[in-house]
Amino acid sequence: MTTQLTKLPNFEEILQIAKDTFRQNFGSEPELGCCAPGRVNLIGEHIDYNDGFVLPMALPMVTLIVGSRCPGDEADIITCSASCEENKETARAKFSLTNMEPGKTKWANYIKGVIHYYSNKVQGFKAVIVSNVPIGSGLSSSASLEVATLTFLEHLTGRKVESNAKRALICQAAEHNYVEMPCGIMDQTISVCGQKNHALLLDCRSLETYQIPFVASEKDLVVLICNSGVRHELSKSEYPKRRAQCMQALELMALKSYRDATESSLSVLERSGEEELLKRARHVITEIKRTQDAAAALREHNFEKMGKLMKESHTSLRDDFQVSCIELDVLVNAAINCSGVLGSRMTGGGFGGCTVTLLQRSVVDSVMATMRENFIRKFNKDAAQRIEFYICTPSEGARRVSL
Ligand code: ADP
Ligand code: MG
Repeated sequence: MTTQLTKLPNFEEILQIAKDTFRQNFGSEPELGCCAPGRVNLIGEHIDYNDGFVLPMALPMVTLIVGSRCPGDEADIITCSASCEENKETARAKFSLTNMEPGKTKWANYIKGVIHYYSNKVQGFKAVIVSNVPIGSGLSSSASLEVATLTFLEHLTGRKVESNAKRALICQAAEHNYVEMPCGIMDQTISVCGQKNHALLLDCRSLETYQIPFVASEKDLVVLICNSGVRHELSKSEYPKRRAQCMQALELMALKSYRDATESSLSVLERSGEEELLKRARHVITEIKRTQDAAAALREHNFEKMGKLMKESHTSLRDDFQVSCIELDVLVNAAINCSGVLGSRMTGGGFGGCTVTLLQRSVVDSVMATMRENFIRKFNKDAAQRIEFYICTPSEGARRVSL
């Protein structure tokens, strides 16, 4: 079995699908199109909700919405994403724009939430959504859906939200309160602010952002994402649990913010005998430092250093924060033992999803093959069949597209 990069539909293809679906269902051409990207986090995991720094980049994969105004105050929306959790009958959602309560159709709740927190009057519209962001894989298809929706609403009504930080907060509030996912602010921010050839350093306390030039190709390097194809149930229940533990540890250290902590703050937790809280806090404190160091390394074009920090991040997530899983560990271990690989780590919430690897372009084929072989050895051929690989360059954030 040869291992190749996964071919996702490209932008032109999803645009065509969106326009065709709109025409077939609504009998006209859409007047407006907007899109927003998914993201991969290079480093800074599980610290966006701990006042930390994160360093994501926007992906070339996007969620695209095309649509038009229509009379009345109803939204009529179709999603073409077959792999979205809902079944076919619920791939179309119609709801009144005067009642923005969350409903039974989960994917529509992301949209309702965004409309609600956008809080401008939105007149009736019809729309079609298509995405080439892998859904439910930790590349934040959810934030790309929220941000694409908000961008679409801003253009539809002509009323702009005053800042990018506000945009991200609106989308985050939608996910918190309409989907009951207490996510941090990273995913929405990078989906709004992404820039071509840049990673984004986000200070999750002040919401200040810094564009960090990141052109791996200048040293013949690439960013390889490996989608493990697994998502353990634990991801849902453990995420709020980690958040709560981080807060508990902070209280025990008598600190207001993890940004006031140093490694010596941990001695309180060491003495308390709260072994698990100690581990959680140690991850947060060391990961904040690693992320700042990683941004400095990228600024200096020191990709070796960047890779080393990525490896350390994985170890910390595996051993201290305990959000990795055997599949992710197998993939990361396989990668980091190959020559030409600078660093590799799990990315996203954990318990499945993706790994991100920084490596020389010349070894991509052999590294993908090794990762897959190790997966087959540990699990089986069927499991290895579900693995997908994507090479991604840092791409643009939310935008209007010409139809
Ligand atoms: P991730 O953000 O890592 O992809 P989430 O579980 O946070 O995973 O978000 C996935 C959910 O977001 C899907 O189950 C679906 O409800 C919604 N979603 C994402 N993209 C789309 C889309 N194009 N159409 C409809 N729903 C979508
Ligand atoms: Mg998500």
